[in-house]
Amino acid sequence: MRNGVLYILTAVALLASSLELLGQSDDHMSVFEIAKMEGKRWRGDMPKSSGTFNGENYNWSFAECWWEIDPWIRNINGRVKIYLELLVEADQISFDFNQALTVESVVVNGETKTSEFADSYSLVVNLGEMIMPQSLEVEIVYSGEPQQSSALSFTQSFHGVDPEIYTLSEPYGARDWWPCKQTLNDKLDSIFIEITVPEGNKAGSNGKLIYEIPHDNGTVSFGWNHAYPIPAYLVSLAVTNYESFSQYVEIEGETLEILNYVYPERYDDWLGLSDATVELMVLFSELFGPYPYLKEKYGHAQTSIPGGMEHATMSTMSSLNFGLNAHELAHQWFGDKVTCGSWEDIWLNEGFATYLTGLSYEHIGQEGDWDNWKSSAINSVISMPDGSVIVDDTTSRDRIFSGRLSYQKGAMVLHMLRWIGGDEKFYEGVRAYHNDAQLAYGYARTSDFEAHMSQTFDMDLSEFFSNWVYSEGHPIYNLNWWVNDGRVYFKLLQETSHPSVSFFRMPFEVKLIGDQQDTIVKFDHQYSGEVFQTDPGFEILEVVFDPNKWILAESAVSFEPNIDLEDVLIFPNPVGNSLRVSILKPTFFAEFAEVIDGTGRVVDLISPAGGIRTGFETDVSGLAPGTYRLRFVNGQSTVAVGFVKL
Ligand SMILES: [Zn+2]
Repeated sequence: MRNGVLYILTAVALLASSLELLGQSDDHMSVFEIAKMEGKRWRGDMPKSSGTFNGENYNWSFAECWWEIDPWIRNINGRVKIYLELLVEADQISFDFNQALTVESVVVNGETKTSEFADSYSLVVNLGEMIMPQSLEVEIVYSGEPQQSSALSFTQSFHGVDPEIYTLSEPYGARDWWPCKQTLNDKLDSIFIEITVPEGNKAGSNGKLIYEIPHDNGTVSFGWNHAYPIPAYLVSLAVTNYESFSQYVEIEGETLEILNYVYPERYDDWLGLSDATVELMVLFSELFGPYPYLKEKYGHAQTSIPGGMEHATMSTMSSLNFGLNAHELAHQWFGDKVTCGSWEDIWLNEGFATYLTGLSYEHIGQEGDWDNWKSSAINSVISMPDGSVIVDDTTSRDRIFSGRLSYQKGAMVLHMLRWIGGDEKFYEGVRAYHNDAQLAYGYARTSDFEAHMSQTFDMDLSEFFSNWVYSEGHPIYNLNWWVNDGRVYFKLLQETSHPSVSFFRMPFEVKLIGDQQDTIVKFDHQYSGEVFQTDPGFEILEVVFDPNKWILAESAVSFEPNIDLEDVLIFPNPVGNSLRVSILKPTFFAEFAEVIDGTGRVVDLISPAGGIRTGFETDVSGLAPGTYRLRFVNGQSTVAVGFVKL
């Protein structure tokens, strides 16, 4: 056992150390990789979920679980005692539980009862007679080798030659290894977990470690108590020959332990990366309110899981790289404290965790990280024309955990809300949502989030949510600009990538770049083809659409040359050997110019690198005598001026 190090960070120390820290660890995982790994937990060929779950006639409040796990043997011996409140008169209660396991006994309020599986995933307990609504204590003793209806739900694996067993129950895997209630409308108020393992192993789980007791028979029991509400899918265990180290961080005057259960062979690597957890903990607590499980702990348990999983108070992690660390920690606020109330709304978990990873790059990343994060999120989403943030098929795990839609597009929805409302209102709205007494430590739907943001912004966001969350696709912008009398004009055209949305109403920025200076101006786009103008006070050479990457969109900018014959002077005319061209307007730009003979044939091309902005001289001695046109080309626009070769 190695001792932890005490970290007490102030905001100043945080800022000072962050760049250095991240500079040392080149161990970043992109948002795309995280989503891909989280999505990969489920094989494409797996049967779809039945989608029907048990427990409608009761609320469960508390569970005590005793589990025996030997990582060498893919097996569980379990005793689970569930305290519940029967809501209606009933003679049966049912649990989500996989029939691959053997139920040895069921005792309700001290009396043995019969039970049977009504289908593959439903354990029915017979109460013997109709009973009135009341409190029940249901103890189920069971054992066996869990089947994996949800891949990786109960996984045996190896690091080197050492075995491990870990669980991953999201979305529908909890029932594979313990009798529970999987619906997303009823959290346990708290849970006690004891895991007994062979000596030499540690068992990580939810909540606070309250004891670690060795037994004479060569086993050791780890007792964990989690006194916060928790849904079935966030209950976890991870067992192997861990070493551990702890860090401590001050949050709101409380000292929080960050407990790391790590493979012995990775101990030094993890220790080297672990300062980031403290920085992220401080950052997220500042942005969104204190860490939700301040009275217990945060922690990591290393396993061979693809990516990571945000088990409440102890994330199961394949590695401690910065992006993954941020993502799973972010879930403690968004996913664990406030949990999506349906798998349709998984973006309230994954879109948030993805965006908070972006924010961690913005605040404590290296130069360029934040910009790269935005580019990669945008490029991933616009790689295809369709798909909504809301999940349209919750029987498909692939669809629920779509990296492109639930993760990146969800994150960009948050980024665009921040763009519309501004930083202050954005964070205020998200905090109000997160702290809503109806939602905190409970469940939220997209409509709950929308209501909070609308209220905080004092703005009707129904069109925004309809377009960006419930409908499909993204805008495709075409910005044309030109200059007239010193003013810059913009015509913004918008098509959409999917017919479910006819127009995305968004504010947009353009960056106007001159020779010595630049400026950014912002407009509100109300319809396709709308024309805007501004007087920048200096000559514009280039225009960039959405320079700070606020909008999820494809875009193109083209200069619409405002050239007429007055802009271009050619001389001498008629010309002998050398034709000189003088450009009058400083905003003139053409990609190239062509010399076209009387039959329409292009006989010469003037194509300097960077295009034509100023005058030039060209050798025409090789041209046959006759009439020619010099045609300037910029995109679809052309302008031509005639001359005669002697
Ligand atoms: Zn996630």
